[in-house]
Amino acid sequence: RPVLEASGVDKVYANGTVALKNADLVVREGEFVSLLGPSGCGKSTLLRILAGLGEVTTGTVSWWEQGYDVVGSKRRKLAFVFQNATLMPWARVRKNVHLPLDLEHAGNSAELEKRVDDAINLVGLKGFDQAFPRELSGGMQMRASIARALVTEPNLLLMDEPFGALDEMTRNKLNDDVLKLWRDKGWTVVFVTHSVYEAVYLSSRVVVMAARPGRIVDDIAIDEPYPRS
Ligand code: ADP
Ligand code: ADP
Repeated sequence: RPVLEASGVDKVYANGTVALKNADLVVREGEFVSLLGPSGCGKSTLLRILAGLGEVTTGTVSWWEQGYDVVGSKRRKLAFVFQNATLMPWARVRKNVHLPLDLEHAGNSAELEKRVDDAINLVGLKGFDQAFPRELSGGMQMRASIARALVTEPNLLLMDEPFGALDEMTRNKLNDDVLKLWRDKGWTVVFVTHSVYEAVYLSSRVVVMAARPGRIVDDIAIDEPYPRS
């Protein structure tokens, strides 16, 4: 079942940069799709367009739910994780993770508090909910950003090179954790990376992009996923 679809998408920025040329992509429910390619090939541009964070120059983007076009509907539960942990520095982890709920719901409730606890525990930050971002390592800040995305209980998670700034060991650990969450939760994930290793390790499908102009050059199903215990 399709969840997201970009069709014939071109993106030309105001300064004339052609970031995407004729991009066609259908993301289906339950897939873990990596957008893989060198820096500047339009991965972030495509992801933002899929998220509705960026406008197309030509072409169309559709969001689907159970066969219906849901553009403008609130039922689409999409969460976006940015390249760097974008936490509010003056607020504790718990308040940061709580923020999307403040935007969605009026007031507090035991149920919302439990969702915050669950999200913090899920990403392995149990015990750090009263810390300030600056007291956490880069990997832990990324975990907090992921918790903030998860607290809305999305069924579609878009991540823009979320672990690019982290050391390799931390990145591998987070990769394993994301993989486990994807398997356990039945999400649909679109993940931007320039690491072949990361793309092949994580994905059920790798979409390969090339630069100048940014375009999709290959689309590979990973039939035999990396052994996943
Ligand atoms: P990637 O994520 O693959 O590194 P991007 O989507 O960030 O690629 O960028 C694709 C191309 O578009 C690059 O040449 C980049 O410099 C350019 N670009 C990205 N954002 C903008 C912008 N806001 N204005 C102008 N050019 C941009
Ligand atoms: P990435 O590592 O994904 O390629 P970039 O460093 O290219 O990210 O882009 C970071 C931010 O700067 C993005 O919001 C992008 O839209 C913007 N940006 C990138 N290139 C340009 C550019 N040439 N002119 C203006 N904004 C840009």
